[in-house]
Amino acid sequence: MLVEVALPLPIPRTFTYRVPGGTALPGTRVRVVFGKRKLMGWIVAPATGDGGGDPAKIRDVDALLESQPSITTDVLDLCRWLSDYYVLPLGQVLKTAVPAVLSGGVGIDAPSKTRRVLRLTRELLTLGEREEVFGRAQRQRELFELLENTGGSADAAHLVSQLGFSHVIINGLVSRGVAEIAEERVDRDPFSAMPTALHPSFTLTDAQRDAVRVLSNATRGKEGNQPILLRGVTGSGKTLVYIELLKEVVQRQGRGAIVLVPEIALTPQTVARFRAVFGDVIAVLHSALSEGERFDAWRMLREGEKRIAIGARSAVFAPVRDLGAIVIDEEHEASYKQSESPRYHARELAIIRAQLTGAVCLLGSATPALESWHNAKAGKYKLLELPVRVEGRPLPPVEVVDLRRKDANVKVAAALNPNASLSPRLVELIWDRLGKNEQTILLLNRRGYATFVQCRSCGEVWHCPNCNVSLTFHRGRKRLVCHYCLHEESPPSVCPRCMSQDISFKGVGTEQVEREVIETFPQARIARMDVDTTSAKWAHHDILGRVERGEVDILLGTQMIAKGLDFPGVTLVGVVNADVAMNLPDFRASERTFQLLTQVAGRAGRGEKGGAVIVQTSLPNHYAIKCALEHDYIGFAEREIEDRKGPRYPPHLRLSNIIISGTEERATIAEVEKAAAYVNGVIASNRWPVTLTGPAPAPIDRIRGRWRWHFLLRSESAKAMGLVLRSLQYRYEFKAGPAELRLVMDRDPVSLL
Ligand code: ADP
Ligand code: ZN
Ligand code: ZN
Repeated sequence: MLVEVALPLPIPRTFTYRVPGGTALPGTRVRVVFGKRKLMGWIVAPATGDGGGDPAKIRDVDALLESQPSITTDVLDLCRWLSDYYVLPLGQVLKTAVPAVLSGGVGIDAPSKTRRVLRLTRELLTLGEREEVFGRAQRQRELFELLENTGGSADAAHLVSQLGFSHVIINGLVSRGVAEIAEERVDRDPFSAMPTALHPSFTLTDAQRDAVRVLSNATRGKEGNQPILLRGVTGSGKTLVYIELLKEVVQRQGRGAIVLVPEIALTPQTVARFRAVFGDVIAVLHSALSEGERFDAWRMLREGEKRIAIGARSAVFAPVRDLGAIVIDEEHEASYKQSESPRYHARELAIIRAQLTGAVCLLGSATPALESWHNAKAGKYKLLELPVRVEGRPLPPVEVVDLRRKDANVKVAAALNPNASLSPRLVELIWDRLGKNEQTILLLNRRGYATFVQCRSCGEVWHCPNCNVSLTFHRGRKRLVCHYCLHEESPPSVCPRCMSQDISFKGVGTEQVEREVIETFPQARIARMDVDTTSAKWAHHDILGRVERGEVDILLGTQMIAKGLDFPGVTLVGVVNADVAMNLPDFRASERTFQLLTQVAGRAGRGEKGGAVIVQTSLPNHYAIKCALEHDYIGFAEREIEDRKGPRYPPHLRLSNIIISGTEERATIAEVEKAAAYVNGVIASNRWPVTLTGPAPAPIDRIRGRWRWHFLLRSESAKAMGLVLRSLQYRYEFKAGPAELRLVMDRDPVSLL
């Protein structure tokens, strides 16, 4: 039988091989000889022709690496779509769809963890029989009866080390033919030991009930197969809607489901709620899993032992059987876009996979991505809404503190502490909460102590030697650190340029706010959550657990505290500086700011005690901030969609960002100009409706010692965009050369930095 094999090579085609004396299904991993090398690849289809050449020259597959395909049919089709849309060879895409232990060349049938067990093979029903078999071998009989009492088998090592049975006794049972030694698979699921939330049984609100009805109908194919966007304000009970959808799909219809969350570590509550309802049928694909644990979860899904996969973006490839629904929680989150090759967006893949399998695709958010909102308005997605919070709870009032105002209050505070980052109003409210034993969340989306270091006499700012960014001062470690390449150096005591010792540390980060909070509220219990405090494996879990148990009065952190947390004890949210995200040179800066403010504000007042939000900003009149104050998503979306008409940006058209980087600036510029000229050439000669802007230096024009230039492609036509990217990827002659040039194509970028 002749088959097409996809290999992980930068070549956009498959290769024909022969499977000697048999057949193998598409999706089966194989080893083949390619040129002089042995490569791992996947059979993707029966050969279409005779291989195009001399049949005698077609080589045999070197080895079939598994007895059943590791890539299931729908995942194979999904990878084909990915390969086509994001313009990457299929062989390279398939590697990302399976756990690393498989793409490393180990067989699907192999690398699980096993233990040796002693297992009964025969029943001895009467005493007479027992006498006959064991005679005077009393210890063997004891072991036999022990196995009977432990359900027929026991861990062999345990019998020896803990229960004192020797190998001779064990072998005795085996040689008498009443027991056998067997290898038993141990399924590693670290979540099985973790507590689940209680699942209180709620009466659905009217809006929830309406949404669930539409979704249930959709699972029976009664609503067409459009993606469904659920826009529900923070605290409106979206999770319960997801759970009801999954009950329908998994419990009533016996099918499978995938739940995507932005990051498992940041959403322990969401995970716990699903586990409370669905228990053992959930496989949690946590980034902290070992390769082995990940593989076990994957295999249990594949074998149907688990029916629900919950995980971050790569869970969209989970080998769930008979897929009935895919839920994407917080669908607007940037983390759904993979920032390295393949640069896919999990939301897009989820929609495609749902179409391929006839599953329902549900996108949920309080602040949908403008693309999703636009699609819903245009009728491409069905729109469901949960317009109010559960139990009639109000959205919290949001109050602005204008950081530019120098009124008496601010001056008094400033005289006491000129660097204060908490306004008197915010301090007052935090005092109030501490007095009432309620909790406060403080958001500042900037980590470290000071975000830049500057000489007061000559203005010199300390920069990373490898990147064009300023170094951040981390006071705890007493180091200047680059957040892009992790370069570190000692903080300066003299300016090397002018020898002044007058050096200032500017731009407040979370570490500095933490210090201020400790000094201002010495008796408060404080937790800081940012990249620097969460490097340990279960650190997020520990911090959030403490907050949940009421052991923390003030939780301070970066955007990681804004995501989907549900703590009824939190009655105050303070945004230390709302301008941080707004000042980024990116067309999504306003959207990000609005989303972040709305999401973090949504953490307040989720319980019966109500809540309030303080936003400190020097841009109080910006529409992103004004709309966030009023919880006005639609107002924001309409204004922002209008704003993106000049110059035009998504959702009005599609974008691709082409980035060329290299170790030498001149070679990088020469290459980006050459590539842009090539693209302009193919666009003109084919009259494709695509326009090119640039080339220009990227907003951060040097990272890790590499210069970065880019140009943007805009098109209303996905097809035309694909054609341009295709010729750039597969026809354009690109050489890395001595400047180690790299060409990156980012289709539908979420950030242009
Ligand atoms: P969202 O994800 O929309 O922000 P959640 O799903 O976290 O909201 O729900 C907010 C809170 O309301 C949770 O504590 C949840 O248990 C509770 N809740 C959800 N639905 C109901 C309901 N029908 N009645 C009462 N409480 C509910
Ligand atoms: Zn100086
Ligand atoms: Zn750097």
